[in-house]
Amino acid sequence: MKGFGEKSQANVLKGIEFLKQRQGLHLYPFAADKAKAFLEAIKALNGIKQAEIAGSLRRRHEIIRDLHLVASCDTDQRRTLMSEIAVLPMIAEVISKGEHKALFKLKSGLTAELQLCEQEVFPYRLLDLTSSREHLTALSAHAKAQGLELTDSGLFKAGERIVCQDEAEIYKAMGLNKIAPELRENLGEIEAAAQGPLPELVSTSDLKGIFHAHTLWSDGDCSLEEMANRCRELGYHYLGISEHSQAAVYAHGLEVDRVKAQWQEIDELNQKMTDFRIFKGIEVDILGDGSLDYDDELLAGFDFVIASVHSRFKMEREEMTERILKAARHPSVTMLGHLTGRLLLAREGYPLDVEAIIDACVEHDTIIELNAHPSRLDLDWRYGPYARKKGLKISINPDAHSTQGLDVVDYGVAAARKGGFSPEQVINTQTLEAVSEWLAQRHQK
Ligand SMILES: [Zn+2]
Ligand SMILES: [Zn+2]
Repeated sequence: MKGFGEKSQANVLKGIEFLKQRQGLHLYPFAADKAKAFLEAIKALNGIKQAEIAGSLRRRHEIIRDLHLVASCDTDQRRTLMSEIAVLPMIAEVISKGEHKALFKLKSGLTAELQLCEQEVFPYRLLDLTSSREHLTALSAHAKAQGLELTDSGLFKAGERIVCQDEAEIYKAMGLNKIAPELRENLGEIEAAAQGPLPELVSTSDLKGIFHAHTLWSDGDCSLEEMANRCRELGYHYLGISEHSQAAVYAHGLEVDRVKAQWQEIDELNQKMTDFRIFKGIEVDILGDGSLDYDDELLAGFDFVIASVHSRFKMEREEMTERILKAARHPSVTMLGHLTGRLLLAREGYPLDVEAIIDACVEHDTIIELNAHPSRLDLDWRYGPYARKKGLKISINPDAHSTQGLDVVDYGVAAARKGGFSPEQVINTQTLEAVSEWLAQRHQK
């Protein structure tokens, strides 16, 4: 096109392609809300015995295309129940409807597949509809090697169904320990489950405190005291405050004198509370050359430092990797924030050698944040197996800009579980005493 350079044209085309790809896709919270409402309506019908959400939503994928649900009832009620479900208020259109299976377009725009089966088939159907294709293929091969046959309606030995009450029993009958729905991606979970029980996955109740929150001091909506009080109400024992640094002018990043003024307010609040502590932190900008947005002396005065990229996203992979590696190696940096800068369904992350950064973080005892915001979930769970093998520690951070913003930790926990992380690998499962000691030790180093 006239007036557009080669590079601009390529960028426009890339943007169009990106828009096309995200059509019909939804972030987890939206899809989960709609699925839950549909599930509750199905469960409320007379004759439904058991009903569950399956599919990629149950596997806690960050982006959802379609919903999958499975329900059980007596055979003679199936036809009636299918008809009752087809007229539930959330349904916009019946795409197809048989006695066993129906496809609906919901008013929310999501497509939902529902399978109705007998109660004895339910656990097998749930396993089948939950697991990824890759997990199922590997699982079927595993069954075959044991002289069994796994289908969506049973696990069979010489044509006889092995009776199982739930998914755990199905895995057990194949000589496997239970595999949580989040892990069913064939990333080594079947081999691990053959050898012993899988490690316990982190859960929300394991979290003892929070890092990464903003207040009115930078671009948050609540005061420091309000944030701390909400954290205490939620049962946390500490809050790591991390405003933006001075380069982030758009977000009222703190100049040096405002940093020191905030420290004073934190000291005063800490004096008032005996059962809770506010840590003095900062979310410091990683500048274009990998240096940080404050001098080393100021940085050394914080209890913890999160280093994040907020500008100059367009960089070649190698240059961006070097930039972030430099920050990861800085002695004052405690953790890296939202590693790739991705905003799911809105902006791709910058290209980055994530594995090289994980290696450097392990070497320098630097944490990588798992940003819990549902449109970030960055570190990506797909790096979980590599990160765990290397011994990386993560922190499940809400990046909260208000008291409500603290609630997103649940999504971060789900992503951490999906990455296979145990409580010991998550820094904010540690008690106030342990975390304080760890931060102090790091300071001395
Ligand atoms: Zn940030
Ligand atoms: Zn932030």
